[in-house]
Amino acid sequence: MRFKSTRGTAPEASFKDAALRCLPPAGPGGIPGGLYVPSTVPDMRQFFLHMDEKTSYPELVATLASSLLQGEFNPLSAARVAESAFNFEPELIRLDNHFSLLSLYNGPTGTFKDFGVAFLAAVLEELLKNTSSAMIISAARGDTGISMARAFQGRKGLTTVLLYPRGTIYGIESGSLASQGGNIIPIQVKGTYDDCQALVTGIINDRPFAERYNVTSANTINPIRLLPQAFYYLYAFIRAKKYLLGDLFFSVPSGNFGNLIAGLYAWKFGMPVNGFIAAMNANNAFGEFIRGGVFTPHSLVPTNSPALDITQPSNYERLASFYKESPAVMRSMVFPAAISNDETVAAIKQAWNEYHVLLDPHSAVAFAAAGKFPRLKDGSDTHTVILATGHPAKEAELVNAASGQTAALPEKLLVMRKRCEPIALIDPHLDALEGAIASCL
Ligand SMILES: *Cc1c(COP(=O)(O)O)cnc(C)c1O
Repeated sequence: MRFKSTRGTAPEASFKDAALRCLPPAGPGGIPGGLYVPSTVPDMRQFFLHMDEKTSYPELVATLASSLLQGEFNPLSAARVAESAFNFEPELIRLDNHFSLLSLYNGPTGTFKDFGVAFLAAVLEELLKNTSSAMIISAARGDTGISMARAFQGRKGLTTVLLYPRGTIYGIESGSLASQGGNIIPIQVKGTYDDCQALVTGIINDRPFAERYNVTSANTINPIRLLPQAFYYLYAFIRAKKYLLGDLFFSVPSGNFGNLIAGLYAWKFGMPVNGFIAAMNANNAFGEFIRGGVFTPHSLVPTNSPALDITQPSNYERLASFYKESPAVMRSMVFPAAISNDETVAAIKQAWNEYHVLLDPHSAVAFAAAGKFPRLKDGSDTHTVILATGHPAKEAELVNAASGQTAALPEKLLVMRKRCEPIALIDPHLDALEGAIASCL
């Protein structure tokens, strides 16, 4: 599989180079600010159409990864990656003839982001196996930082630097810190999350430093974090296909649009799907772009589904590259929806009353959007798979009030509440970051 830049004519990269370089070169032919996207997406139908509910998630990932990466990843490596990444699985729950729920919150931090992060960490370890080392530098906040610490801890050859904005750091086990013999280096930046992201881009583009330490990132700028999210869409399809009567849709709670883009890759792999609902909250200016208009970011509106409170999706370039290729097809494939705070609360209540499932507010946005979507198209009944992206107990106050139930946090998520001290506190400058890293090695 080859990757190209969304900007300019930078040379194509192999899977390994895309994983390890993370960002396309700004140099000859390339334009700064581009992101890697697959240059061609292979038809994978022969590999997944025969699968059924007996295929486990690691089996599915191993089969698809080795066929996707023929020549770069043999079946044995792919199986090792799938086994070491996934000791958790998605779960498809059929609600009725019209709706299923794809639960993606069974990973170590209770959000779907664990799927992409875990795969990337296992892939990087496998790619470098005993021959070289790499440094993963990522902007971190909240759960995503914990997800990265979990996925990368103890992985051979991978030093992992997590850059936190001001605030408390939670959920890193002390034994995994570099200062205690582990491989995780949490650094606090006197600045915002955007400052942390700018430092990641800055350090990757400081080529002498980046090449010396083999620097890459586990943020979604890395295409290998996003691509494996396509696998759970296929997992849902091979389980849902036995009860599908008509058209198939997915409803995706969308903030940065990584999850939705992964669904589009699953479609390009050959998954028979009729469309995707891009479920947004009050921060839905991006819907204009999806309908074919011009994207003008609005100012941020805080809502009760905070992971979707994003005004400028960083995956804009990736999504736009689909529209550049075939704008009319895309307009008949992706349907924006805007859900209010009140509708989100009502959806949590309705999901409990009608189906006895507890939804977190982000999943509830997708549930509400699916409910609004016309169910009967051209006389054929549609079925919508709703992506449940977060564990309901992580937003217990809201979920309990809306549902009248008590969402219980699983034991394994409790350690996420433990505080941790950064190894260094730095000004938001590249020199300060490079100095802090050097002093930890
Ligand atoms: C990150 C997140 C989202 C948004 O996903 P994107 O890929 O950014 O669109 C939705 N729900 C939860 C629980 C999240 O953590």
